Amino acid sequence: MSIVAPTYRDFAVARQNLHDIRQYRLILDTANSLAAERGPANIVMSEDPSIDSPGMKRLVEFRARNDAALAQLAAVSDVPFGLHGHRVPQDLLQDVRDQLTLARNKVDGIASIPRASLKLDEIQDAIDSMFAVSDRFRVVIAWNSNELAQHSTGLAAPALIGQMLSDLREHGGRVGSEIMAPLATNQKMPLQNVIDSRRSQGGLLELWQLISSQTNLYNVPSLAASRDEIDRAFFGHGLALVDQVIDEGRRNPPYTVTATEFTNRFVPTMRPIETYRAAFLDAVVERFADARTSALVSLVTTVLVSTAVLTILVGIVLSARAHVFRPLMQVHDAVLRLAADRLVTLPARPTQVGEIRSLFHAIEVLQGKLQERAFLTHELRRQAETDGLTGLLNRRMLDRFARSPSLGEHAGDALCLILMDIDHFKNVNDTFGHFTGDRVLIQIAELLRSHLRESDIIARFGGEEFAILISDVDLSGAISIAKKIRLAIQTDTFTTPDGTPFRVTASLGVARGRRGEVAWAELIERADTALYRAKSEGRNRVRFARLSTPDMVPSTSNLLSLTAATRPSSGR
Ligand code: GH3
Ligand code: MG
Ligand code: MG
Repeated sequence: MSIVAPTYRDFAVARQNLHDIRQYRLILDTANSLAAERGPANIVMSEDPSIDSPGMKRLVEFRARNDAALAQLAAVSDVPFGLHGHRVPQDLLQDVRDQLTLARNKVDGIASIPRASLKLDEIQDAIDSMFAVSDRFRVVIAWNSNELAQHSTGLAAPALIGQMLSDLREHGGRVGSEIMAPLATNQKMPLQNVIDSRRSQGGLLELWQLISSQTNLYNVPSLAASRDEIDRAFFGHGLALVDQVIDEGRRNPPYTVTATEFTNRFVPTMRPIETYRAAFLDAVVERFADARTSALVSLVTTVLVSTAVLTILVGIVLSARAHVFRPLMQVHDAVLRLAADRLVTLPARPTQVGEIRSLFHAIEVLQGKLQERAFLTHELRRQAETDGLTGLLNRRMLDRFARSPSLGEHAGDALCLILMDIDHFKNVNDTFGHFTGDRVLIQIAELLRSHLRESDIIARFGGEEFAILISDVDLSGAISIAKKIRLAIQTDTFTTPDGTPFRVTASLGVARGRRGEVAWAELIERADTALYRAKSEGRNRVRFARLSTPDMVPSTSNLLSLTAATRPSSGR
């Protein structure tokens, strides 16, 4: 926007300038046309009354043209979109029209009087009235010239020169009209008319010099020829003719020329002034038109180039987003997920940028390695925590659960331990072989799993011994669980690989105690003692350690000696 806005502003100014100078030109043309009406007016006033003389016909034509020109200025002109117009104040125009009506009435009045009865003063009055029309219109020109100068500094000089050219044409005409009254009435030239004409001539020369020097700055080739022509025709022949009439008028009328002849010879000498004026204004308008065109070209160029640059930038941003930023965000998310041990899914064709692709590849490799490590860690942990044959927890894990309160599913302090030893397992091995013994161990592990809850901890305690830790149950609850297990084992059928069925029983010892390092050792000891009792009282039964009996809660040192002394048949 900051690039396009100034060029748009330049274009808007150039467009407004062109519009303004064209409007101004219309006003200058109208001034010229109003001044030109004086020529035929002078002729009809100095001739005998006639409605179809050439002078009258021309006068009618000029009047119609001027009426139309004034009406056009008064009308609300259509101002094209984006431009503002300089509308001539209606009261100024009305002044001009009023004065014009007045002057024309005077001219018409005199035109209807036969030539012989014409009075100098009356003609002079009518001529002065026509001058007054131009004076009023000059206010319109000054108003517009001032408007333009205020609106745009670029318009000030051409507006002023245009005004001076208009003045040159106006006063050029006046030099002739000022001597018209005595000439038309064939009377001696009053001194006042001579003074007026001489003053006008002096002013004209100064004005012309000023205009020449100013228009020179514009360097318009076609003006040079008109300039010489003005010097030759107007300042040469035209003014010489005026001087001749003045001389004759001062000495002794009759004049050697009639008013009509004078007008018909004098007016053409002003034509180069008109040509010059038109050529200058044409050149100025053309310059403003060129300025507008080049402003438009640079505006269009700027818009096109800016749009192209913007499009390229947007393209770069979009492509960077698609090929760099989005993949980077994906990599970022992927790394965070990897760090959080979560699975990462990467896009199939991530990007065309090599570096980003290798990042994705690295993440894939990383993920592969992390998965492998996770698998190995899991496997190692499983091996470290479980028994290879039955898949139950091993003794070490059982100890950890029982010692540390925080590790159990139910972290309550109290817990029950059931120790179970298969009866005469040696016989199973001896009778059916070690392999069948292993199968029995596996089947019993399954059986335990199916009879206990997820939260209960089942471990392989030793060779054919199992331990069950139950947190949220009292002693009688644990005893009934133990009984259920015992019954399930007793009623379950085991088979050898060749299909020979056999049965197995187990003895169980139950005790209730607490978690913690010392309490755990005591709990094991008491459950073991109960198990021992189950064995010694005939096997395939459940025995438990009573809490209330003081001798069932021996001290740790007593417990050790007791175990050593009373467990001769234990495999541990
Ligand atoms: P009871 O407990 O009724 O007094 O008699 P038992 O025969 O079960 O007693 P003991 O503790 O003397 O024998 C245990 C046997 O269990 C000894 C051992 O060969 C066997 N055993 C221990 N671990 C395994 C094992 O992993 N697989 C097999 N097949 N046998 C095992
Ligand atoms: Mg046994
Ligand atoms: Mg045993």
